[in-house]
Amino acid sequence: MGAVNRTPFIAGNWKMNLDHLQAVAFVQKLHWALKDAGHEAGTVEVGVFPPFTDIRSVQTLLDADKIEFSLGAQDLSVHDSGAYTGEVAGPFLAKLDAKYVIIGHSERREYHAEGDDVVAAKVQAALRSGLIPVICVGETADDLEKHGASAVPVAQLRAALDGVAAGAEVVVAYEPVWAIGSGQAATPQQAQDVCATLRGVVGELLGPDAAAATRVLYGGSVKSGNIAGFMREPDVDGALVGGASILVDEFAAIIRYQKHVGV
Ligand code: PEP
Repeated sequence: MGAVNRTPFIAGNWKMNLDHLQAVAFVQKLHWALKDAGHEAGTVEVGVFPPFTDIRSVQTLLDADKIEFSLGAQDLSVHDSGAYTGEVAGPFLAKLDAKYVIIGHSERREYHAEGDDVVAAKVQAALRSGLIPVICVGETADDLEKHGASAVPVAQLRAALDGVAAGAEVVVAYEPVWAIGSGQAATPQQAQDVCATLRGVVGELLGPDAAAATRVLYGGSVKSGNIAGFMREPDVDGALVGGASILVDEFAAIIRYQKHVGV
């Protein structure tokens, strides 16, 4: 499992799923499922990343029922306010008690043409608002064949961290594009190799303390049946989970990886 001083982080990227009523029901059910299973909050940080329209409802529920899940958004604007129709600003998310924001997800890179420059600007926007960016990097199947596993994720991370101060908190998510939603996860060894390399990049750019403290997650077809293998690796500190994060029992089982398998 991840190094002793880094709290494991299991983050659920709901993508464009669950309206605000479904979101409230889901979070309640997940909370009860973990309670029923005797899960100790604090051993693992649980993050939920709903669509923008759900965030206020989820925030209200977490607050009212004292549920210790962290809240995050799936995107933010590079701007803090102004004439940018349809955009959502970092300060608005911070006001809703969002702690994290996903930046550079492969779906944004692919369907919204977000290049490394936009990703870097969004990282800056998140940090300006006091949000922790969850910086997603990963290679396509084509990149893997042409350049090996690490080259593209390393270049993407270097670009995203450009101008980031040494003391800033970030989370890095290694998400090979070929593994996202495909059912074909990387092997724990593949994830470990790239996560260790990415930690090295954090160390080089932000210093050794940041390298030791930064959570590096694996993402791509994570399920209850494979999470333990990833979490046994020393440089994998958690998972960014897509499809399985909106299935209550499956996501609860992923969060409880320490219990249902010997780690
Ligand atoms: C993701 O979209 O971040 C992801 C990892 O998806 P999935 O778990 O469905 O592969």
